Amino acid sequence: FVFYFEKRVKRTIREYEMVKKGERIGVALSGGKDSLATLYLMNEVCKSMRAKLIAISVDEGIAGYRGALLKNARALCRKLKVKHEVFSFKKEIGKSMDEVAKIERRGGIGRSLKLRGAEPPAVRREAACTYCGVFRRWILNKAARELKLDKLATGHNLDDVAQTTLMNVMRNEPFRLARFGASGGIIESKEFVPRVKPLFRIPEKEVAQYAILTGLPVKFSECPYASEAFRGRVRKFVNEIEEEYPGTKFKIMRSFLVLKKGLASIYKKGELGELKKCERCFEPSSAKLCKCCELKEGMKKKN
Ligand code: SF4
Repeated sequence: FVFYFEKRVKRTIREYEMVKKGERIGVALSGGKDSLATLYLMNEVCKSMRAKLIAISVDEGIAGYRGALLKNARALCRKLKVKHEVFSFKKEIGKSMDEVAKIERRGGIGRSLKLRGAEPPAVRREAACTYCGVFRRWILNKAARELKLDKLATGHNLDDVAQTTLMNVMRNEPFRLARFGASGGIIESKEFVPRVKPLFRIPEKEVAQYAILTGLPVKFSECPYASEAFRGRVRKFVNEIEEEYPGTKFKIMRSFLVLKKGLASIYKKGELGELKKCERCFEPSSAKLCKCCELKEGMKKKN
């Protein structure tokens, strides 16, 4: 199992040229099984390609959750002798994720009101994951650029690809689908460090088995905010369908690859508008304010 698992991942890395000789490669290391397996495999590949490997972790500040995972991330980096950089929401954004969630829920209304059929609050409440995802991407891209990385590998697996495909269809966000993928995005800019996903063809269950069999320091825990996420509902749905119709996740991924080709050509023709710089943080953005600064601004109003 371990041999075939590694063979499939390495084939994906070769096929999409995720590592080239002498490059500087980053791995976004959350400390979960997917990112640990990605680091472990990328370390082997980078060694053989004489590429430099650096792990980047983001501490969102989620009490009782991220700390233990970061401990495992540090342990693996020490074992593999990989340089490890840790960035925190508190330092980079000004607030921990727990503080962000508190602001978001202030007033004690929101979900419970909705469930009782009352009017939703005037200010639209964002799920914690919306903030978390935007802030993490902002930090990772900035850190990867400052560390002069050529690529940044993430631990997205087949389940993530199937869920993301359906979520973007359900939200009618085809541009997000266009920029998602195994390797790189649709906008080529030196401001964006291209992302690569070596595990994108591997089901989540197999990543978990691989992590256990190879003795990676894994801890299976769930973020306390995960239940708020739309992704959680989609994950449940996809898993149920997969149970009844095995192979569905692969089929969604294959459909996505076909759709992406068409979408990439549409958006390359300029449908996304010009890439600008956020007037506040100077990070790349398609609007005056980037999504990170927009959310920070919204938080100020709710605070
Ligand atoms: Fe962040 Fe949501 Fe993931 Fe928790 S589940 S770490 S809040 S994106």
